[in-house]
Amino acid sequence: MRGIADNIDSLRERIARAAGKMGLDGDAVSIVAVTKTRSAEEMEEAALCGVDALGENRVQEALLKWDLSAPRSSVPWHLVGHLQRNKARKAAEIFSCIQSVDSLELASALEKACLSLGRRMNVLLEVNIGEDPDKYGVSREDLPLLAEGLFERSTTLDLKGLMTVLPLGLDERGTRSLFASMRELRDRLRSRLGIDLPVLSMGMSDDFEYAVMEGSTMVRIGSAIFGRRKY
Ligand SMILES: *Cc1c(COP(=O)(O)O)cnc(C)c1O
Repeated sequence: MRGIADNIDSLRERIARAAGKMGLDGDAVSIVAVTKTRSAEEMEEAALCGVDALGENRVQEALLKWDLSAPRSSVPWHLVGHLQRNKARKAAEIFSCIQSVDSLELASALEKACLSLGRRMNVLLEVNIGEDPDKYGVSREDLPLLAEGLFERSTTLDLKGLMTVLPLGLDERGTRSLFASMRELRDRLRSRLGIDLPVLSMGMSDDFEYAVMEGSTMVRIGSAIFGRRKY
């Protein structure tokens, strides 16, 4: 298996090619290296290769790694997995962006934590666009109310956009049409709220090229950078 640096180079090439097909700019797509199960050394290496952020799935694992001090480099740290309300405070202490906000209850727990820490936090709303019962995320129907509620009530959370994880086993057509729906949801929300919403976090190792073709601005990549996960 090739090294992390080579994998990141070829990831960038594949992003550029996919974007180019649609007349989009691959350089505008940021890369979150998803580091669940990876060692502190692997994380450092990805950070040194210039990925835009590191992504962790679970607060617990992130806290352990935080204590190893590895990811305190200059690269922002994102939470990409589900967040329980009772871990909001810990999450607010270590992450610079929470990509998985999917309820007003969670948003207000984060708001409270950020107020007491005296900090601001970037957030994305996770949308269960494929209506997959095994996935977290707000439904597309409930998204506008959640976005408005968060936008109106919070003083510390900066709503930057949307995030999704697709159901497994879709073909190209199904995959692209769900990614396109995410882009449309973002565009509608943008005019409804009158704010920019620059981030569309979509695309993982197996589907990021389709995501980029449909307007993703942020891909979250694990195995295509680090190899297959061993649990
Ligand atoms: C694990 C994970 C990824 C990356 O998955 P790969 O298929 O290894 O690229 C992206 N997003 C989330 C939310 C994840 O949990």
